[in-house]
Amino acid sequence: MKKFCPLCEKETEQLSATESEEINIRGEMIPVEFEYQYCQECGEKFEPTRPDYDPLDNAYRVYRQMKGMIQPEEMKRFSKNLGVTQKEYSKILGIGIATLNRYENGALQSQSHDQIIQLSMQPANLRKLIENKPEILSQETRNRIFQSLKNEGQECGNLLNEAIEEFGSYPPDLFSGHIRFDINKFFQTIKFFCYKDQVVKTKLMKLLFYADFKHFRDYGTSITGARYAYATHGPVPDNFGTWLIAISEWEKEVDCEEQNFGNFVGEAYTSEEPDWSIFSTSELAVLAKVKKEFQRFSGKQIKFFSHQEDGYIKSETGKLISYQFAQKLQI
Ligand SMILES: [Zn+2]
Repeated sequence: MKKFCPLCEKETEQLSATESEEINIRGEMIPVEFEYQYCQECGEKFEPTRPDYDPLDNAYRVYRQMKGMIQPEEMKRFSKNLGVTQKEYSKILGIGIATLNRYENGALQSQSHDQIIQLSMQPANLRKLIENKPEILSQETRNRIFQSLKNEGQECGNLLNEAIEEFGSYPPDLFSGHIRFDINKFFQTIKFFCYKDQVVKTKLMKLLFYADFKHFRDYGTSITGARYAYATHGPVPDNFGTWLIAISEWEKEVDCEEQNFGNFVGEAYTSEEPDWSIFSTSELAVLAKVKKEFQRFSGKQIKFFSHQEDGYIKSETGKLISYQFAQKLQI
């Protein structure tokens, strides 16, 4: 294509090309494609041929995806579906309207704001946020939202009911974290850890242990009511194998894959999005903390880490681990 080249000061043959460069976004080097055109005679590069393409915007998108952060359209869609104005939504979140507006138009949100926004998208949290500040919305809007938040009950498979009867009907005590075993919570917690992540079985079992024990220490009850036992590779949910099989019959949303880890083959789990609505704010906070804390740990590393737990050192093989050991939890 012939265009005017200011350097050659005449119309010259010009071609388009792309170049990959890295942009530093909060310490992460994000590769982005730049499009440009250049003069075939002098080699000079010119303006992007697509003025609507913004490399920084693109890098933000990649960064958000990497970090599990929410994209601008998702934010907009959420408040639109909720039927609230941007002003109302910003008050629900406790984020300034100017800031929210910038986020919705592509600015990169802070980590903490992202967390608030994502939490607000979970029905149970949204309900609490609205209940805490009833003056923000009209009675009518509030009722409409609450109505739509009512969640449906879930049905279990037969095997699962049998398993619950046999292994899950123990009384709430110090071995269950003071609450009854809740199979759906247990399952959704597994999904939480395997969502957007591939988790090996050893690691998954430890993540469950830390989530339940940490919530017990910080808030007085476990999350799932699961009991944990002493195994050679660390604390594990009691009857974990049974639960996994029973759960897989009930729901097909957790995928298990054989994976080659160099010197051994192990099972790795991935999952669809969990049902956020069944968790309380404190449970979500603990889950997020545990997930983040061990993000970079391999199965082996978390196994060794868990071996240092008081509850592990002072328990015996095959025996249940009391939640009272949570007081000295390392995280
Ligand atoms: Zn030229």
